[in-house]
Amino acid sequence: MPSPIGHGFTGVLLLIIRYRVEQWRQLLCHWRQICLFVFLAIFPDVDLFNPQLGRFDLDSPFHHQWTHSFSFALLIGLVVVLVRRIASNQWDWRLGGWSTLVVSSHTVLDLFFSNKLPGMPVFLPFSSYPVMLPVHFYYFWDEEGIFTYANFFKFLAEIVFGFALIALLLQYYSRRRTKSRVGTMR
Ligand SMILES: [Zn+2]
Repeated sequence: MPSPIGHGFTGVLLLIIRYRVEQWRQLLCHWRQICLFVFLAIFPDVDLFNPQLGRFDLDSPFHHQWTHSFSFALLIGLVVVLVRRIASNQWDWRLGGWSTLVVSSHTVLDLFFSNKLPGMPVFLPFSSYPVMLPVHFYYFWDEEGIFTYANFFKFLAEIVFGFALIALLLQYYSRRRTKSRVGTMR
């Protein structure tokens, strides 16, 4: 599975897609929603907390269960809508939908990058069948601990890859804007 860094970057990428952000400094205007999206993208891994041990544990028996299901993503979307309604008196269903998408991105990424058997019951509570993709990329943390030498390079790779993807996406939206501007001038 990707580390919280990889999941967090996915949250930022989805925000860029939501607002078609073109420049780095434009990203700063959305800092509040970036914090929300990054938090939501990482949140399903709350199940790594093992109450029996009273700490986070990579081998937690609760890991990859219902917080990694699509209905959980839907539930979080509804919670965001309700919190927003209470805080600002408006029904922001779009934000709810994007929040569901961000939480789902965690599940999808874990499906592709986790090699843990038997898979994840992503359709809970409707089906407890553990889903495992026929194709997935071998990628896992060094199980000896979180702050190991091997993990350091994986974190570094995620950071480099994450920033590169952000730069590419910003470039894409900025080029698209320029093209449409040229199109209207003709
Ligand atoms: Zn996860």
